[in-house]
Amino acid sequence: MSISLTVSIECELLRMTMSNLEVNCMRFGLSENELSCRDEIQLFVRNEVTPSAHERDIQDIYPTEIIKSMARKGYTTLTVPTRYNGLGKSKLDACILMEEVAYGCAATAISLITIFQAETMLLLYGNEKAKDVFLPKFRDGLISSYALTESGRGSDIRHLDTKAVRKGNQWVINGRKTFITSGSAAEFFIILAETEVGVSVFAVERDVLGVRTEMGELSETFGLRNGPHVDVVLEDVVVEDYQLIGIEGKGLKQAVTTLNNSRTIAAAISIGIARAAYDYSLDWVNQRSAFDQKVFEFQGIQWMFAHMLTNINAARLLTYRAATLLDQEGQSAISEASQAKLFAGTMATKVCEDAVQVCGAFGTTINAPLGRFLRDAKAYEIAGGSNEILRNTIAKEIGKAMPS
Ligand SMILES: Cc1cc2nc3c(=O)[nH]c(=O)nc-3n(C[C@H](O)[C@H](O)[C@H](O)COP(=O)(O)OP(=O)(O)OC[C@H]3O[C@@H](n4cnc5c(N)ncnc54)[C@H](O)[C@@H]3O)c2cc1C
Repeated sequence: MSISLTVSIECELLRMTMSNLEVNCMRFGLSENELSCRDEIQLFVRNEVTPSAHERDIQDIYPTEIIKSMARKGYTTLTVPTRYNGLGKSKLDACILMEEVAYGCAATAISLITIFQAETMLLLYGNEKAKDVFLPKFRDGLISSYALTESGRGSDIRHLDTKAVRKGNQWVINGRKTFITSGSAAEFFIILAETEVGVSVFAVERDVLGVRTEMGELSETFGLRNGPHVDVVLEDVVVEDYQLIGIEGKGLKQAVTTLNNSRTIAAAISIGIARAAYDYSLDWVNQRSAFDQKVFEFQGIQWMFAHMLTNINAARLLTYRAATLLDQEGQSAISEASQAKLFAGTMATKVCEDAVQVCGAFGTTINAPLGRFLRDAKAYEIAGGSNEILRNTIAKEIGKAMPS
């Protein structure tokens, strides 16, 4: 074979490889448009979110100003259709947003997720009046919470102690919700309450008579500190019929479907936390020396970074896959969303542990952000669906697909 023929075959192979790469990029990577959105978000996070992250964690305060500023940019209504004043973007875009915000501050990212949860519930199940009344308010910066848990009922919410009773064209709600993220600042709540026929969903505004929030015994968490996860108390709260979201008695199914959406973006938050820990510790080992060489130059340390990077990227692929499925009409992505959150959540905790380890004693100090990353990552293995419940969900889907 002549040299020129060899070269031209190699060129052709390279061209084919490049075109495969492009295909792969299109399938798993981001478009130019998505990349430029990501750059814009990164800049916003670097300037407006990251600088106050440490203070927010120490003081346990809700990032009200940041969320209002995000609302003005359309980030809080990213996936809300344009007819309700949203930006009408995809779930994949939401994952990009969440990863970048969590990279700067996970507490701010979970402040966003409780807004996305309420929007999703309204979009999927709200009647036209509920959508018209509540959805446009999010563009003006409405802050919301998603209230399922009660002191005696966490993973198992098939029955609830919060009750809703129909009175003519209205409902009267009584009960107490615990562990409510963003509840310290929320102006709007999605509340799960039990009616005569089962668990149902209600949209409740903060400023109506009978609604109050309280610091409960469980309100202060060691991670994901975006203000205390308060109790929401409902005493003879009267709401109109249109504020029943979806079908009476089908609330559990609706909540689980909404969670499939939020579990995907929750996975993106865990990836953001892991990436922050990875970058911070990589920078540190590249500057710190021991035994006359940089810490990064020890092969044992390099392998830890190789492992961290591989797992961060694997988690992102799972997450993008779940988001892409959810973006396709009619796909519920039950297993994929749970796989993404399960893998990303455990991955983030392990990456944060390793990041502390490679930084030695410095990694354990209050001045290093690694403790915050680790606490946030661990808390997210429980919030929004614990690892055990996610495994149950995945296993149930495996069982459904098995031949009988
Ligand atoms: C930081 C944070 C924020 C939160 N924010 C909110 C919020 O905004 N709104 C809200 O409604 N709730 C919120 N929660 C509550 C959260 O949803 C619950 O903590 C979660 O559902 C688990 O419930 P639990 O803590 O009562 O655990 P339990 O249900 O008491 O479970 C205890 C342990 O048993 C395991 N377990 C339970 N059932 C099974 C099973 N069938 N198989 C195997 N293992 C099982 C659990 O995974 C867990 O490890 C938050 C929690 C945290 C930590």
